[in-house]
Amino acid sequence: MKYLITGGAGFIGSHLTASLLADGHEVSILDDFSTGSMRNLEGFSGNSRLKVAKCDVSAEDAVLDREIAAADSVIHLAAAVGVDLVVTDPVRTIMTNVKGTEKVLLSAAEYKKRVIVASTSEVYGKSAKESFSEEDDLVIGPSCRSRWSYACSKLLDEFLLMALVSAKGLPGTVVRFFNTVGPRQTGRYGMVVPRFVKAALEGNDLQVFGDGEQSRCFCHVCDVVRALRLILPDKTTIGQIYNIGSRELVTIRQLAETVIKLTGSRSKIVTIPYEQAYAKGFEDMRRRKPDTSKLQEHTGWKPEKSLLEIIEDVRDEMLRSGEVK
Ligand code: NAD
Repeated sequence: MKYLITGGAGFIGSHLTASLLADGHEVSILDDFSTGSMRNLEGFSGNSRLKVAKCDVSAEDAVLDREIAAADSVIHLAAAVGVDLVVTDPVRTIMTNVKGTEKVLLSAAEYKKRVIVASTSEVYGKSAKESFSEEDDLVIGPSCRSRWSYACSKLLDEFLLMALVSAKGLPGTVVRFFNTVGPRQTGRYGMVVPRFVKAALEGNDLQVFGDGEQSRCFCHVCDVVRALRLILPDKTTIGQIYNIGSRELVTIRQLAETVIKLTGSRSKIVTIPYEQAYAKGFEDMRRRKPDTSKLQEHTGWKPEKSLLEIIEDVRDEMLRSGEVK
């Protein structure tokens, strides 16, 4: 099979690429290398079944259209990602996530190509439910708070996909990733696990934003890739939305303590108020846990790696790659 992965030089994309190449498939990657890098693809850059082209999916129609026409399936991961980036550059967030997805989906609909679009748990916004299900109401914050532009732009992507499924017979599926972590993820754009592990290994303070009592579930990227591989060939998943994430809830303070323990670090934990870490009026969610029963019922998927295994993997890869000073 020929797969097109937009954003394939990114964190999740590079792991999906590795998995597809390992099974003998052909992979074509379109990426503008804004947050992704060729370094993520180093392990298989010589593979003759891998093709990589620099392309801004929100701007370059011809390349994108040609690659979609040539592919059997498209996995659309290209997006402006990371709270830091979203808060500091909301225009780029909206343009990338709305225009890029529009181009990918219209072209996929024209050629009737199987397509998966990556959405996010951010769409659940401020909801205070114990765990989030795909058909829950979505409660996001006001448009004067730039952090919500990410959720809103991804939500528009979801609506467009669902509309094209019913109007044009697009064989599309939406996946809502909850915090996905693992080797090769960079902490540069605000992702908490690589930020903490790097700080602990370098003996620096671990900066916890807010009071640290906000809780999240972290899923290993290899579990996420396994979910994508189950959804891709399964026609019953067309026109559906799936949460993908772990259900092991941990507060950010507990996460920091666990990282310190597993790295044998003497680092300290310091708390930084949100308005100092981000902009004034920054809003965060206290808790974010997925209900993944729909995906489990449809495909049998459930995550296998624990938080401890995830942190160990991230630690080991940082030491191996020389990323830690
Ligand atoms: P990432 O930043 O590593 O990957 C995104 C990739 O898209 C990068 O390689 C980047 O260079 C590329 N890109 C950005 N704008 C582009 C453009 N205009 N044209 C072409 N390429 C472009 O992040 P990731 O964690 O691998 O995220 C992949 C997808 O999963 C994204 O759509 C993201 O919104 C979604 N997601 C990720 C998480 C997570 O926890 N990692 C959670 C929710 C949703």
